Amino acid sequence: PIEPWFIGGPVIKGFGRGSKVLGIPTANLPAENFSDVVSEHTSGVYFGWAGLSKRGIYKMVMSIGWNPYFDNTEKTVEPWLLHDFGEDFYGEELCLAIVGYIRPEANFPSLESLIERIREDGRIAEKALDLPMYAKYKDSPYLRNAL
Ligand code: ADP
Ligand code: MG
Repeated sequence: PIEPWFIGGPVIKGFGRGSKVLGIPTANLPAENFSDVVSEHTSGVYFGWAGLSKRGIYKMVMSIGWNPYFDNTEKTVEPWLLHDFGEDFYGEELCLAIVGYIRPEANFPSLESLIERIREDGRIAEKALDLPMYAKYKDSPYLRNAL
């Protein structure tokens, strides 16, 4: 179990790696706003709750990792909200309660195996967030106040 942590900001443009084409859009946050708390946490895949202003609170799974396209001191924070929005929400305020850890960053032999692993991470997050020990954070004032 991890100590939950909370970060948020406007959804910004990522590097357009075609994650939508793969069926896995990841909303990017300006990590420089909370680089301290991000650098304290090990790279890998986490899960938790996402509050999206004027929309609601959703389950999410996210990777925290080094961005090879950026300078090596900066980690990116990229949550995949486990909900079908059917549209983009760039510029909207996104708040995250990160409550659990799934696995470290890893290399995959193929894109297919990476996608399959991310889908599995999504299923793990989906189930774990129904457990009372994680479900309770859905009511975090930090998320609620931002709606
Ligand atoms: P980018 O490289 O700009 O982050 P992506 O292909 O990763 O582009 O798509 C992420 C964008 O898709 C988000 O910024 C958001 O506006 C939109 N989006 C739509 N549905 C979702 C979702 N379920 N989870 C995350 N982002 C989503
Ligand atoms: Mg993205």
